[in-house]
Amino acid sequence: MKTSKLIDIALHYARRGWAVLPLHSPDVDGNCDCNNKNCSSPAKHPWTSHGVKDATVDQNIIKSWWRKWPSANIGIASGAMSGFFALDVDGRKGWDYLEKMGWPKTIQSKTHKGAHFIFQYPGFPVTNQVKKIAEDLDVRGDGGYIVAPPSQHASGSQYKWSPGRGPNELNAAPAPKWLLDALRHPSVNRVSHPLRGEIIEEGRRNSHLMSIAGSLRKQKLSEESIFAALLQENREKCRPCLDESEVKKIAESASRYDPEPTRTSESTKVLQLVSGIKLFNHGDQGYATVSVNNHEETWFIRGSMFKRWLQHRYFEAEGRALGTANLQDVVETLEARALLGI
Ligand SMILES: [Zn+2]
Repeated sequence: MKTSKLIDIALHYARRGWAVLPLHSPDVDGNCDCNNKNCSSPAKHPWTSHGVKDATVDQNIIKSWWRKWPSANIGIASGAMSGFFALDVDGRKGWDYLEKMGWPKTIQSKTHKGAHFIFQYPGFPVTNQVKKIAEDLDVRGDGGYIVAPPSQHASGSQYKWSPGRGPNELNAAPAPKWLLDALRHPSVNRVSHPLRGEIIEEGRRNSHLMSIAGSLRKQKLSEESIFAALLQENREKCRPCLDESEVKKIAESASRYDPEPTRTSESTKVLQLVSGIKLFNHGDQGYATVSVNNHEETWFIRGSMFKRWLQHRYFEAEGRALGTANLQDVVETLEARALLGI
């Protein structure tokens, strides 16, 4: 492998909007070039100190990385950052499951033991999931990354785009319905059909409870009923359990969302205009991904960029300015939807 090629390929991925990061690679003896004899993730872990958080599309940063580490493997951040998530199949049971559900036709790469299937990022957060859908089937979403072609695996094999399935040959397809169903509001199904032993770990507890609260509110349940349902879910699955005061806050914020609001025709009009945009949350913040001049931008919903974009859309459609109170109403509604996943 010519080392100049890796830098060019990393830059090419970045130009298509994929945030890349440099990973360690195998040395001539097949050991990880981090020089740690007990490396737990040979030729797969990041060179940079903040790992996937350092992933970027900035061409200058990428050039500096591959000049410093010319043979670095190429990692691509999955999730909202790059506009896709990946299904990672790494064994027989994963293939059997795909066989049963139907073979997805989308960007696909060959990995050491299986394949990565790359799908368009849906309009809701995608958490990393290990063996939750099936054995040998993982999801790489927000905060995760994949090792991309032409990286070298520690075994000596090489990651490759599957024939006819490279990113220059086709676009990432929307995820099939069965996969979206498995990713979307997984908690709601599980409230009525609890999966024995399912654990919601730290970092996912808030968004997990928020998404349940959102769907219960949509079914017009009262704050008390939502609180009771969340307490039960928290006790059964969250480890460690969230404080009761935190659970109460989630129930309260869900209950502020009016399932059948009466609003002005101006706000309604804006909400209709923007009904196709993707909303999601990260921590306690709501974000929107919108299409601007043929590319996608992700903005903080309460931020000035997004507000300006809303005003612009309204002005284009109606030929007059959107009032401040209505703008605020729209922003609050969209943020509630993003936070509650509804
Ligand atoms: Zn290593």
